[in-house]
Amino acid sequence: MIIPDIIIAVDGFSSTGKSTFAKMVAKEFSFLYLDSGAMYRGVTLYALENGMIDSEGKIDEKSLKACIDSLDLHFRNIDGATKTFLGDRCIEGEIRTLAVSSHVSPVSAIPFVRNYVDDRLHRFSEGGRVIMDGRDIGTTVFPDAELKIFMTADTQVRAQRRYDEMVAKGETPSFEDVLKNLQERDYIDSHREVSPLSRAEDAYVMDNTEMTMHEELVWITGLIQGKFGILE
Ligand code: C5P
Repeated sequence: MIIPDIIIAVDGFSSTGKSTFAKMVAKEFSFLYLDSGAMYRGVTLYALENGMIDSEGKIDEKSLKACIDSLDLHFRNIDGATKTFLGDRCIEGEIRTLAVSSHVSPVSAIPFVRNYVDDRLHRFSEGGRVIMDGRDIGTTVFPDAELKIFMTADTQVRAQRRYDEMVAKGETPSFEDVLKNLQERDYIDSHREVSPLSRAEDAYVMDNTEMTMHEELVWITGLIQGKFGILE
């Protein structure tokens, strides 16, 4: 199936499988995949490593603001997979730890951080044929995206998925901590002043609590065919 050069925006709550879904769609239809959460995580890692977040979680916004525009966060395609880089350093693993997850929502609520990430996302997606996942892609970053998806799933199921993912990577979190972090991020992401997580009116909702990846692919394939009048 050949689909036109469009932008697909995938938004939703934490750990609903947005990136897994977006990567699968990117591979299936030869789209570029951009992970906006990875950009926020990259900024957070940088702030943590440079002493801009204290032990109480307070962010030194002044110092972060002074250097954010020189931050070289970008994506590279390594063996067919999109990886996040800070300069020449691959930070894909470090940005997924609980330490980064615990601070990323307050960092991403800062307006100049959002401007920085939005600007990069626009630059990286020039020309279209991009699938991007995040919290505000369909509402703020690309309100004109041709196809918008909003993903949701049961909270316990989402926490279990994140927990399993971390254990598979050798981390040893407690399930309660993972669940708590998820609920906190849901709350901050949905209630912040700038660009809160919300469903765009024209987004199609996918609740994947009980869906397999194959079912997700069948779902979006049908959606694309119907919406763009494409025959298989
Ligand atoms: O998608 P992921 O869980 O990696 O995103 C990490 C965090 O980055 C989210 O919890 C949210 O606080 C922030 N984020 C955001 N807007 C986006 C993508 C992510 O605020 N478009």
